[in-house]
Amino acid sequence: MTDTETPAATYCGRFAPSPTGPLHAGSLLSAVCSYLDARRHNGRWLVRIDDIDPPREMPGASDAIRRSLEVHGLQPDAAVSFQSACRDRHLAAIAELRSRGHLFDCGCSRRDLRRHGRPGPNGPLYPGTCRHGLPAGREARTLRLRVDQERDSFDDQLQGPIRTCLAETVGDFIVRRSDGLPAYHLAAAVDDGGGHITHVVRGHDLLWCTPPQRLIQRLLGLSSPVYAHLPVLVDQHGFKLSKQQGAAPLDDRKPAANLWLALQRLRQAPPAALRRASVATLWQWARSHWQPERLRGLERIVETGTGE
Ligand code: GLU
Repeated sequence: MTDTETPAATYCGRFAPSPTGPLHAGSLLSAVCSYLDARRHNGRWLVRIDDIDPPREMPGASDAIRRSLEVHGLQPDAAVSFQSACRDRHLAAIAELRSRGHLFDCGCSRRDLRRHGRPGPNGPLYPGTCRHGLPAGREARTLRLRVDQERDSFDDQLQGPIRTCLAETVGDFIVRRSDGLPAYHLAAAVDDGGGHITHVVRGHDLLWCTPPQRLIQRLLGLSSPVYAHLPVLVDQHGFKLSKQQGAAPLDDRKPAANLWLALQRLRQAPPAALRRASVATLWQWARSHWQPERLRGLERIVETGTGE
């Protein structure tokens, strides 16, 4: 997102949708923004399907997502990857964190956490019940990462300097779930870290996830990407459009209209004359006129219908 050009070989961005439903107008903004940032830097752009949460998956969603990306001209520079295929790598990272003493077994349920957790900005903070050993009669359910006085500071390319004290924002967090699967922070941190992905462009709703993911990368000795968190699309009532809330899927029969609207929402002011242009023409225009600085400091974009 910076004006300083990143050499082609060093930029690798990604779009990482979860297959919990088809793409909607909000997820298109993330895809378009990360794609244009990669193109602007002559970088590579990858698509990774974050299929690490089988209970939340919707059958057919990953195919629908891939089809939507294709008809919208969002062509990745390598075959689409699947996070589930990297489970061994995620489990190895958990084993390494454990062997270095960063994790502890936790017997608490979500209900325990709701009852006893301290209120935090992103949900209840872990009260420390199992931090120094499982209390008698408790069985290990999850593995948590011990967060002490870790602070984090980084420069978000769109949101500016971010400073956090992790104990106050996330607390001890889960890296292996009660069903034995790696948790989102762990999988994302490992797959984005180590120089594989150099730039992460994603929604502002995930800004709070960046410090714990950077912490995991630090503890594992992996480099962290540059982050940019773009505003999220919200409805008239201020609620984020999301697959879980049943946001309307993108209409793949009118990709050019969807793209024009996405560019408009992203404050790029596409000319009205391009409203009926082809997908290829729109991309050509967008690539040469991309001005991400117009999104700087913005956290939300209100969806005001299709005629914006
Ligand atoms: N898979 C996550 C989602 O769809 C996004 C992950 C990310 O961009 O880090 O919400």
